[in-house]
Amino acid sequence: MRPGNLLLNWAAPFSNDLSSHCTMPQEAMKAPVVVLGAGLAAVSFASELRQAGYQGPLTVVGDEAEPPYDRPPLSKDFMGHGDAEKIRLDCKRAPEVEWLLGVAAQSFDPQAHTVTLSDGRTLPYGTLVLATGATPRTLPALQSAPMPVHTLRTLEDARRIQVGLRPQARLLIVGGGVIGLELAATARAAGVHVTLVETQPRLMGRAASSTLSDFVARYHAAQGVDLRFGRSVTGFTEGTVLLDDGARIAADMVVVGIGVVTNDALARAARLACDDGIFVDAFGRTTCPDVYAIGDVTRQRNPLSGRFERIETWSNAQNQGIAVARHLVDPAAPGYAELPWYWSDQGALRIQVAGLASGDEEIVRGEFSIESPKFTLIELQKGCIVGATCVNNARDFAPLRRLLAAGAQPDRAALANPATDLRKLAAAVGT
Ligand code: FAD
Ligand code: NAD
Repeated sequence: MRPGNLLLNWAAPFSNDLSSHCTMPQEAMKAPVVVLGAGLAAVSFASELRQAGYQGPLTVVGDEAEPPYDRPPLSKDFMGHGDAEKIRLDCKRAPEVEWLLGVAAQSFDPQAHTVTLSDGRTLPYGTLVLATGATPRTLPALQSAPMPVHTLRTLEDARRIQVGLRPQARLLIVGGGVIGLELAATARAAGVHVTLVETQPRLMGRAASSTLSDFVARYHAAQGVDLRFGRSVTGFTEGTVLLDDGARIAADMVVVGIGVVTNDALARAARLACDDGIFVDAFGRTTCPDVYAIGDVTRQRNPLSGRFERIETWSNAQNQGIAVARHLVDPAAPGYAELPWYWSDQGALRIQVAGLASGDEEIVRGEFSIESPKFTLIELQKGCIVGATCVNNARDFAPLRRLLAAGAQPDRAALANPATDLRKLAAAVGT
């Protein structure tokens, strides 16, 4: 059966409000617990499982040989200091875990409750947690290009890219999303010439309002990044990359940041409902008994849009992992319902975004200048706050997340006035 057929049967009860999840029968957690993937979601899950009192056997299988590390610094500070020890995830809160690193899970058998590893071993599980994350998309047009072409996901990737970030080197970045823009800022700070090619007419199109996209484009252009919108890569010659408008971009190195695909192959092979992401409910349950999924590999219901989506953020990997662990130990614990949010550091810009990227109306607060940016964008839908973006304005972010969670409808003039203390406004609406 195609996973899509399974999905139709399974996702239907999940299309309404979150309370419908609770109508599914809850299964008790069974030992041993095996986690596949050793990234942030896995470490958060394993730590919380132990902290919540699970004392049974716990194994984490990770295909990277490196001890677990945090990815956000890879496109930012790590390029400067290059010290892997500074970005290790803290595993001390997950004692007595058997870490099987440098070995991949090849398949799992939901009937036999076993996982087969790439070194030939078979692990029995009572409860299986899939935390296998995502893999960058690649660009076939540059498959045999003469210059180094990288994606950026792992510590190994970051080390390879770091070598090429020399003053006066020419870097071509393909993709104007968060990876491309964070790396563009990091590379400019290192004196690298940067050209960035984006197929769409704006930057960060997946997760930013058009006001933020325009501002970010002006910022990077002012930093000297050569932005090429509406263009794609068609091929290469010795030392140059060709674009579809005939332009030739001289490049010593190319970094491709054009999004990710999830590592859901194991789940698809075991016939779990997937669609570039494993469908889960608010408790991390998949369509297969005793199998859960957390982090970037999942497709879950976004409480704001009501749609099943991938939420590819650090906070989701951490907090979904925590919520699922708590729920396994205590079935009365609430399901995961955090509203999506992320941050992105791009040179002098600390961008924080919560909720939906845009609504039917946008309110701007603060200083909207390239020289000293410090502003907040508030997205409204029929008067309710549905999204917020803070640029160098962290003070606004926490109260706005509370107002967003409350679905508040504050006075527009008060919101727009930078003198209004949003913390007081949030307190006034009882959040
Ligand atoms: P991953 O971190 O991808 O971990 C999954 C692990 O599972 C990987 O090690 C993978 O190799 C392993 N694995 C896969 N298949 C198997 C298998 N078959 N067997 C065993 N192991 C397997 N988010 C933000 O909110 N803000 C940021 O500023 C930010 N910056 C980022 C910068 C970079 C460069 C990157 C790459 C991501 C950034 N993110 C950021 C996103 C955030 O880091 C991810 O959302 C988060 O790492 C997802 O965690 P995860 O554990 O679900 O998946
Ligand atoms: P993305 O989806 O955010 O952006 C990809 C960009 O590439 C889009 O603007 C898209 O229009 C463009 N694109 C797609 N195909 C293209 C092509 N052929 N040529 C040119 N442009 C093309 O993905 P990303 O920036 O690659 O990030 C990858 C992953 O890392 C995501 O999961 C992301 O959430 C995560 N990440 C998050 C942060 C953060 O939240 N600060 C930072 C870095 C990475």
